Amino acid sequence: MKECIFCEIISGKMPADFVYEDDEVVAFHDINPQAPVHILVVPRKHYSTLLDLKPEDAELVGRLILVANEIAKKFNIHNRGFRLVFNCNRESGQSIYHVHLHLLGGRIMMWPPG
Ligand code: AMP
Ligand code: ZN
Repeated sequence: MKECIFCEIISGKMPADFVYEDDEVVAFHDINPQAPVHILVVPRKHYSTLLDLKPEDAELVGRLILVANEIAKKFNIHNRGFRLVFNCNRESGQSIYHVHLHLLGGRIMMWPPG
């Protein structure tokens, strides 16, 4: 079975434009940005969907948000505002089955989302 694209990015087999890395979390620019700032915050550990997360993963999930906050500050979109999105399964539009948090900003966001 073909390896997950995000696992390949995390292992260095596939290139990405990284903006953050630590021992649990990486972040890189989305290849098809939907906003001036569109960064994916990704756990190194593979979880296919949010539904695979367990109670013991709660701290890691919290860290994804804290890392996203720091990146928002780094790109100076924190005060203007930004959006964090997790897609889960087909109707949400999830296309990569490795949990990731979208950080979107740099433009006015619509609500409700499409
Ligand atoms: P989702 O639809 O929530 O699963 O989001 C997957 C995101 O990954 C999409 O916004 C894609 O543009 C993005 N993406 C797919 N392949 C790559 C890649 N090789 N490098 C960076 N982003 C990617
Ligand atoms: Zn993966």
